[in-house]
Amino acid sequence: MILLLYLDNSATTPIHQEVKDAMLPFILEQFGNPSSKYYEQATTAKEAVKVARSQVAKLINCNPSEILFTSGSTESNNFVIKGITDQQKTKGRHIITTNVEHPSVLEVFKYLETLGFEVTILPVNQEGRITAKQFKDALKPETIFASIQWGNNELGSLNPIKEIAEISLTNSIFLHSDATQVIGKIEVNLEEIPGLNSISISAHKYFGPKGVGALFLRKDQYELFPPITPLLHGGGQEEGLRSGTLSVHNIVGLGKASEIALKNLVAHINQLNSLESYLIAILKEKFGSNIKFNQPSSDKIPGIISVQFIGLNNEILVKRLSPIMAVSTGSACSSAKPSHVLAAIGLTLNEIRQTIRISLSPYIRENDLNIFKNL
Ligand code: PMP
Repeated sequence: MILLLYLDNSATTPIHQEVKDAMLPFILEQFGNPSSKYYEQATTAKEAVKVARSQVAKLINCNPSEILFTSGSTESNNFVIKGITDQQKTKGRHIITTNVEHPSVLEVFKYLETLGFEVTILPVNQEGRITAKQFKDALKPETIFASIQWGNNELGSLNPIKEIAEISLTNSIFLHSDATQVIGKIEVNLEEIPGLNSISISAHKYFGPKGVGALFLRKDQYELFPPITPLLHGGGQEEGLRSGTLSVHNIVGLGKASEIALKNLVAHINQLNSLESYLIAILKEKFGSNIKFNQPSSDKIPGIISVQFIGLNNEILVKRLSPIMAVSTGSACSSAKPSHVLAAIGLTLNEIRQTIRISLSPYIRENDLNIFKNL
């Protein structure tokens, strides 16, 4: 059976045709190891990795040397949170995050708590974000590190990252942000946010391949990385910080996806915003008071809708819809448990169990969404 409409783009996206075309030669004839030398396959692979590094850097406006390739955002989050706190633990042991982070942040914080770190988990407001004041008020003389998500995967809520970064810069705190869901969907200009020390990126969220991503790690004025303990020790790839033979075809895919995302950024933002308004209007017209929206109405990632169908069970609804469209009950990573994100904005278990997430793609058209009129 052919699925009519894929609307689970926050869980993952299909690979863009041009991304696939860019990757294929590096799976087939250009199979060299970029750490090898002199012969053609090796130098071609090395050059392709260099190009990809620049493509990723351009998308977020940083120096290419500040991009470290990883297997995705789970790894990037683990790497930076464990690696920086390990190096700074003699300065202080207080670390801060929020209660709507992805498990690849929250579970690491829980782990660090078992190692003796003092953890503050900031509660988000009804819009699914923290305020800069909340962040400032949580700081202590012993605070060394904070991980504050840029945009939320279930609600789309954006945090005031610029303001938070100014505060962390003034207080000399290392600030990391999980930017997985915002890449390609909002402008990310790291030159304008000097207080933001690192971000996580995942290719499969923006039409690139799965199993590859990056950590942006800001260098200091001497072009040096901050002290960070590697997650993977070995052959010394990625400046000795992330060992392992580079996954060249995947890295090429990440680079190409970044180039395409940058080229289309403005058009995609506009398209996602107009698709979102169009779908919300259809849903309101069709279901009236039988639905309720959870996502904030502004300062959000375009294209993420979280909606309650009052009195219906979301598992049954998603299953019933599955022959014609793909939507989800929430995050794909923790779909077995009731959403901690929706609980954090004050929803009851009942309200959580009647919520579905619709995450749009800039590659669909309004016409495609008319399917909702006939549900
Ligand atoms: N952070 C967020 C906000 C995510 O949505 C995801 C993916 N669901 C991740 C981290 C993990 O990314 P990856 O799949 O690349 O490990």
